[in-house]
Amino acid sequence: MSTKAYAAQAADAPLAPFSLTRREPLPHDVLIDILYCGVCHSDLHQARNEWHNTIYPCVPGHEILGRVAKVGSAVSKFKEGDLAAVGCMVDSCRTCPSCREGLEQYCETGGTVFTYNGPDKVLGGVTFGGYSENIVVDEAFVLKVSDKVTDLAATAPLLCAGITTYSPMRHWKVGPGQKVGIVGLGGLGHMGVKFARAFGAHVVLFTTSPGKAEDAKRLGAHEVVVSKDPDAMAAQARSFDFVLDCVSAQHDINAYLQLLKRDGTLVLVGAPEHPLPVSAFGLLMPRRNFAGSGIGGVAETQEMLDFCAERGITCDVETIGIQDVETAYERLLKNDVRYRFVIDMATLKRPA
Ligand code: NAP
Ligand code: ZN
Ligand code: ZN
Repeated sequence: MSTKAYAAQAADAPLAPFSLTRREPLPHDVLIDILYCGVCHSDLHQARNEWHNTIYPCVPGHEILGRVAKVGSAVSKFKEGDLAAVGCMVDSCRTCPSCREGLEQYCETGGTVFTYNGPDKVLGGVTFGGYSENIVVDEAFVLKVSDKVTDLAATAPLLCAGITTYSPMRHWKVGPGQKVGIVGLGGLGHMGVKFARAFGAHVVLFTTSPGKAEDAKRLGAHEVVVSKDPDAMAAQARSFDFVLDCVSAQHDINAYLQLLKRDGTLVLVGAPEHPLPVSAFGLLMPRRNFAGSGIGGVAETQEMLDFCAERGITCDVETIGIQDVETAYERLLKNDVRYRFVIDMATLKRPA
């Protein structure tokens, strides 16, 4: 099947129209016509080879929401016309202990197939993501979208920004009585604020952008701290149970470690290009934890989507045409996103 898409052909080349091949659905496959695809900062890192592993041409996009157009003969979860979603993974080994526990993103055999830039086990070459007309995915990695969901564009970014912030907060049991910090009000950060609030914590947003303070409160933060203000940072020292770092660029991680009280945990979900130096004594005293977390498994992603559908939680989005994706990337780099760009895939049909 020939499918219209947008691809980066090199780290320094802007995304441009591209035609790719999707497989005909196998017995367990679902063909999804993509309606919306979120623009994650990871798409930018990957398109520009900031993680030094990109294979070109690269078609990014892993916040995919659409409608089922065709199902394979053995598919049981979906039928034509259903809403369906795909996140950051399209396959894994399915047999190792992590896969059996529903943590396919941590597949121990190296078998996690990411939605783009992963090894395509059927066609060979690499997988191509959601900046495209359609996608074919094994139903085991396709998520159900509740009929209660009305704003489809605002739901798409839950597939990465949503699960990536939901999963660590569930794992570290964020809840009432806790003081929780979210660092960076971008795509991930704004969902971090919403989930921390929904889980009953006292939520403090740390931002480099004073202009985002009002939005942060509207999104659910009880307090906002401008991280460039040393006095405001010092006033928060040693008071947090949990801090989620959602920053996409170089920053001083020690400034956030010092926020933790004894046994508090700082979880890094941001994935900047270069290492972040950690001060040993900032960790040792008073017995702090520094951890990381990657997206979330299929079952937990479904749990998160259902939780959001039940509570009416969606993302705050700015819908764009695919022709504007480079402008969106430039705006991400200026922290000028409120709070997720989502591509309306109907714009792929516009003449270039
Ligand atoms: P985004 O929308 O661009 O948001 C990043 C935010 O970080 C910015 O809006 C800004 O917030 C803050 N920031 C940027 N530069 C900064 C700096 N130099 N110092 C301090 N703060 C800064 O990005 P995103 O899509 O949310 O993604 C965030 C990061 O998470 C990316 O690195 C992405 O690759 C990674 N990610 C990881 C996973 C995972 O599985 N762990 C999943 C998805 C994404 P303020 O304006 O509020 O300061
Ligand atoms: Zn992402
Ligand atoms: Zn596995």
